[in-house]
Amino acid sequence: MSAAKRRGRTLDAGEIDELFTRLAELDPNPTTELVYTTPFELLVAVILSAQATDVGVNKATRLLFPVANTPQALVALGEHALKRYIATIGLYNAKAANVIAMSQRLLDHHGGDVPRTREALEALPGVGRKTANVVLNTAFGEPTIAVDTHIFRVSNRTGLAPGKDVRAVEDKLLRVVPQRFRLNAHHWLILHGRYVCKARKPDCPHCVIRDLCRFPDKTPDA
Ligand code: SF4
Repeated sequence: MSAAKRRGRTLDAGEIDELFTRLAELDPNPTTELVYTTPFELLVAVILSAQATDVGVNKATRLLFPVANTPQALVALGEHALKRYIATIGLYNAKAANVIAMSQRLLDHHGGDVPRTREALEALPGVGRKTANVVLNTAFGEPTIAVDTHIFRVSNRTGLAPGKDVRAVEDKLLRVVPQRFRLNAHHWLILHGRYVCKARKPDCPHCVIRDLCRFPDKTPDA
């Protein structure tokens, strides 16, 4: 029996601690690649980022935010004008409608502020569990973990938190990630998935957690 089979498909607590220790050594202060300066700007950027790249969103918000970066300003700008700023982003029609409706709801129910609870965030138009988790974690420092396609892939491949859907992976991560790594786990795993453990051809030869990872189809050394 191979060493990997003997160890099983799921990482044990010591291996999980080691995995995050290594990711933390590589990047002690990870954060989002979305450019923002306020919780509201982050919320808008995350809504725009669904099925789009952070680079594409940043290009649009670099022009949008100097013109409108508050709920009041976006409602005043209006849906039609907003579309001109975000027309390069996928699903921009629906996103423009959601951003305006979300801004109006903030004005009507939260005094124009971004709420700090999951329930209030998820009640906003265009905001689902993942977006709420990103805002709670990145804007407000809550130890939530938003599972996107990168985190889902890394969690399953490595054996860190295998699960059949994003919610199962999120629940598992919240159980197994050591408390001291919880705040930054979201960004360490996203960045690892985006730049190293890529979907099509993971860069296993240069991966710092290769010896811990249970993925059976690792990319071999060149
Ligand atoms: S060894 Fe390969 S599959 Fe495993 S985490 Fe690293 S890049 Fe991903």
